[in-house]
Amino acid sequence: MNSLRITVWGENVHEHTNAKVNGIYPRGMHTTIAEGLSKYLPAARVTTATLQEPEHGLTAERLRDTDVLTWWGHKAHDQVADEVARRVQARVLEGMGLIVLHSGHYSKVFRLLMGTTCSLTWREADERERVWVCNPGHPIARGIDRFFELPMEEMYGEPFAVPAPEEQVFISWFEGGEVFRSGCCWRRGNGSIFYFRPGHETYPTYHDDNVRRVIANAAEWARPRGAWVDSCPNVTASAEKISPK
Ligand code: ZN
Repeated sequence: MNSLRITVWGENVHEHTNAKVNGIYPRGMHTTIAEGLSKYLPAARVTTATLQEPEHGLTAERLRDTDVLTWWGHKAHDQVADEVARRVQARVLEGMGLIVLHSGHYSKVFRLLMGTTCSLTWREADERERVWVCNPGHPIARGIDRFFELPMEEMYGEPFAVPAPEEQVFISWFEGGEVFRSGCCWRRGNGSIFYFRPGHETYPTYHDDNVRRVIANAAEWARPRGAWVDSCPNVTASAEKISPK
């Protein structure tokens, strides 16, 4: 099997405007996410791209060379060019895997692919999160115990306005009482999509080994299963026509 080509996309804004975030992720959240992927998938070719690069680092060529894209955005969803969001959508339909992280639920890319608002409820109150495994046989849950905990996270709660997930891997419970479908799988066209909830920028979530393992498992799971380049051709009959007797 060819080595997996993963592009880690980061909005890269909070890291430069919030000292607390900069303290946790001095080289950007995308760098830390990429390091976690390399730790658990040493054979993968992991690179990063950010909003500030031309075409946000996601040229057609770059996307062609990407098997799995991870997406973290929050503050600057509206600064992502529509053309780039549609380009990512098209690549997912062709077969590229997509892992949407935390506040990426409101990204143009995720909303285009889901076709719904992707809204949820939220609260920033330093609450404990317990991430429960719903499906221990799922490849994305490999190596994870019955649950794992993050000592402090932002709360996300239901209702989560997404189409019913095709597979549910995790559900989170928060200290304040809410629950949330925190690990969800969909297929769109020929591509696999995984949404994974944890990852608020003011907590060291992407340094956590369980979180890193889940993202790496998801990248393996989302590996393209073949490419399907879109077209709508007018074709000739594949068999000779049956002549009337
Ligand atoms: Zn957040």
